[in-house]
Amino acid sequence: MSGEARMTEIVPPPLCALSLSDLVRAIVERDQFACVLCGNYVAGGLKSMHHRVLGDRSVNEPWNLITLCGSGTTLCHGWTHGIAVASYPKPSRSEITDSGYIVSRHHKHPWLVPVWFNQPPTRDGYYLLGHDLTVTEYQPERNPSCN
Ligand SMILES: [Zn+2]
Ligand SMILES: [Zn+2]
Repeated sequence: MSGEARMTEIVPPPLCALSLSDLVRAIVERDQFACVLCGNYVAGGLKSMHHRVLGDRSVNEPWNLITLCGSGTTLCHGWTHGIAVASYPKPSRSEITDSGYIVSRHHKHPWLVPVWFNQPPTRDGYYLLGHDLTVTEYQPERNPSCN
C-alpha cells in the first residue's frame, strides 16, 4: 500500500446531509450549548461558529467548527482571532495554536489536532472532534520506551 492511499483513508468524509443552519445547530449541541473556551452559555448562531483553519471559511465540517461566545471581534471568539477583549489580554500565537483553536492552513491532517475544552466537569482537557459530531477524549500516543 502506498503512503498516498493510506492518507486518503483517514480523510473524513464531508457531512453533506446537513444544511448550514442544521450544521450550526448540531455543532452548538455537540459543544453542550457552551463556549469551548469559557464554558458560558451560547444559544447558537453563525457568529458563534469559529473556523479553526483560518482563511478558509468554506470548510464547514465538524472538526473545523467550534462554538465560542461573542463574535469574530468580541469575547472569546474575538480573542481566538488574536484580539485583546474585556476578559483576556491579547493572546500569543502559541496560546491559540496550542489550544487547537487555530490550525495552520498547511497542516496535513487538521482534523487530528485536538481542541482544548474548558467546560468542567463534563469536558475539561483535550478532545478530538469526529466528522460524525462525536467528541472523544484525546489520548496522546505514548512512546513505549518512556515510563
Ligand atoms: Zn467564551
Ligand atoms: Zn472565528
